[in-house]
Amino acid sequence: MPIYEYRCPRCEARFEELVGSHVGVEESSVRCPQCGEGGAERLSTTSYAPIPRQQTANQKRLSEQKRGTDRGGARERFGKQRAAEKARSKRARGG
Ligand SMILES: [Zn+2]
Repeated sequence: MPIYEYRCPRCEARFEELVGSHVGVEESSVRCPQCGEGGAERLSTTSYAPIPRQQTANQKRLSEQKRGTDRGGARERFGKQRAAEKARSKRARGG
């Protein structure tokens, strides 16, 4: 599903147009949004969807390490919380 960049031969306005049978727009029917002139000149193909940014192996490892640390930290916090609750309930029962 390409978006083409066009240049109007009359007013030289640049515009992008989604062209294809699925959108019902033929290249020959592309018109300038500024002046309505047909016969726009195609300049280049721009990608339809932005390319997702790929993590490098090193970045991946770092983020996984970070997640691992976070998980460990959460477990530690959870353990402390449990210990505190235990201590509290012991006190509540009057030890
Ligand atoms: Zn024009």
